[in-house]
Amino acid sequence: MSRMRASAMSPSGRSHSARPCREGRPLLLALLATACVAGLAVVAPAPAGAAPLPREKPASLIAAEAMSRLDERRVTTTRVLPSTDIGDLVDARSSAAAAPAGEVYSSFAAAPLPRPAPAERPVVVAAAPVELASAPSGLSPSAVRPSAVAKDLFGAMRAPAPLAARSIGSYAKGCLAGATALAVDGPAWQVMRLSRNRNWGHPQLVDMLQRLANDAPALGWNGLLVGDLAQPRGGPMTSGHASHQIGLDADIWLTPMPGRALSREERETMSAVSMLKGSSELPGADRGVDPAKWSASRARLIRRAAQDPRVARIFVHPGIKQALCRFETGERGWLRKVRPWWGHHYHFHVRIACPEGSVGCKDQDAPPPGDGCGRELAWWLSDEPWVPKKPKKTDKPAAPAKKKHMTLAALPQACTEVLVAR
Ligand SMILES: [Zn+2]
Repeated sequence: MSRMRASAMSPSGRSHSARPCREGRPLLLALLATACVAGLAVVAPAPAGAAPLPREKPASLIAAEAMSRLDERRVTTTRVLPSTDIGDLVDARSSAAAAPAGEVYSSFAAAPLPRPAPAERPVVVAAAPVELASAPSGLSPSAVRPSAVAKDLFGAMRAPAPLAARSIGSYAKGCLAGATALAVDGPAWQVMRLSRNRNWGHPQLVDMLQRLANDAPALGWNGLLVGDLAQPRGGPMTSGHASHQIGLDADIWLTPMPGRALSREERETMSAVSMLKGSSELPGADRGVDPAKWSASRARLIRRAAQDPRVARIFVHPGIKQALCRFETGERGWLRKVRPWWGHHYHFHVRIACPEGSVGCKDQDAPPPGDGCGRELAWWLSDEPWVPKKPKKTDKPAAPAKKKHMTLAALPQACTEVLVAR
């Protein structure tokens, strides 16, 4: 048993699980988490000294996840999560993100695809990067091997799999067949960062976004600046998110859409604006939104998104959740879907549930009951999730962490068919 695993299972839990990978590594949190979390579930006890968070699963099912944030420049702490939000997460604009841990997808092996699978797993000669880069559509079966790094294969895909639309696997471990592109310009939206080619999603996600954009002007919001959806065939990304793999996640900027079409260049270089007063990572920081930046129109937009019955969760910074809790004076049911998370103060992340017909798509458990504006939010606004604990002197120096990338074999079997479909 590796030291990392041993420490992750330490009864004292949290700080021990975080430290071996963190010390002396001024890297992005997400890199850390990829190295630390892949393949093992870091035990996540209730936050020390705070009221326990609502839980829906035993700790053994909890994986530690990590966040990189748009503005993040340093590692802070390994994030210990409310269990129900695992499997998801994470937006990092400029870095790798955490690999999810511990889930098993054996059931997907039997999930049929709209076209017959090969009789046996393809034998691979070599995965040639040149071939991947130039492949117009699906990969040659000979280029796909189970030990291949999944993000390299899926990141090279330039076009969707010509199959019936289907989200396969879970939000942070899966792929997407039959994706639809969200048009880069619509009546009330513009897609950002076009060079990423991540404006692909399940048709239900694209439809949800189009309807939300359509509603936006009446809510006092000019239109949507849309960030990442998914790659053409979903799957792990070469940079950024751990989730967004099955075409059911989308990032929407909290920056207003200008009344003109942004140039391609502007869509690459324009920055989103944080809604916060300042850094959340200082002891005693005010983690609320800046009233000069936040607006009721943003609250109405997020509320409208949450009210779409297809939407399962929306991730926002806890300061934004707090603003939403204060904003709503009427029916509060929608607030249950709005989940506090690290990052997400430049944008909010909308996640829809598995669409009908997506065999092998794995929903998350429902969020905890209630509006989430009480004890849980108080924890999120405290120092506990943000300020790293000082390492104990007795701890040994960190063992060098090897970064593990998710292989194709870790994904549902059907994702191989998605890669080769042409
Ligand atoms: Zn996102």
